[in-house]
Amino acid sequence: MGKRLLIPMDGSEQAVHALQFGLKEFPSSDITILHVINPMDTGFSPQASLPGYAEEWYKQAEETADEIFAEADDIAAEFDRGVDADQVVGRPAREIVTYAKEHDIDQIVMGSHGRTGVSRILLGSVAESVVKRSPIPVTVVR
Ligand code: ATP
Ligand code: MN
Repeated sequence: MGKRLLIPMDGSEQAVHALQFGLKEFPSSDITILHVINPMDTGFSPQASLPGYAEEWYKQAEETADEIFAEADDIAAEFDRGVDADQVVGRPAREIVTYAKEHDIDQIVMGSHGRTGVSRILLGSVAESVVKRSPIPVTVVR
């Protein structure tokens, strides 16, 4: 039986590369895609105080998650594979590590950078924090 892999995806190209790497390097693994909806991303724009803003924001975030999962399905299909997908709400790094512990994951494969970062920094903050906290091996794809 293969390893159980967790591939956290945020909609970035780097996360897609991490998925492609995981599919290629772990041909017999079960792969779970995890997207973390981060409430901190709502920001402090003027609209944030309007009624219904939070609901609208959350609906949008769920649509983004669905797009990420659909893209992951398409990529997995190119390898004649399937993936499981899950989403949680919280702080990304903490949720990724907790999810891995609770679901008997053997290894995490993630991008070195994501949607928001500056590429001259060695690792994005989520990648750095997962590497720091994870009790299981983490592969950071560049
Ligand atoms: P920062 O967030 O620190 O500004 P960044 O966006 O460039 O920088 P990270 O957020 O650390 O970099 O992204 C690195 C990897 O972490 C991504 O390629 C992805 O695998 C994972 N990741 C980041 N955010 C999330 C999220 N919300 N849900 C799932 N995976 C995520
Ligand atoms: Mn990020």
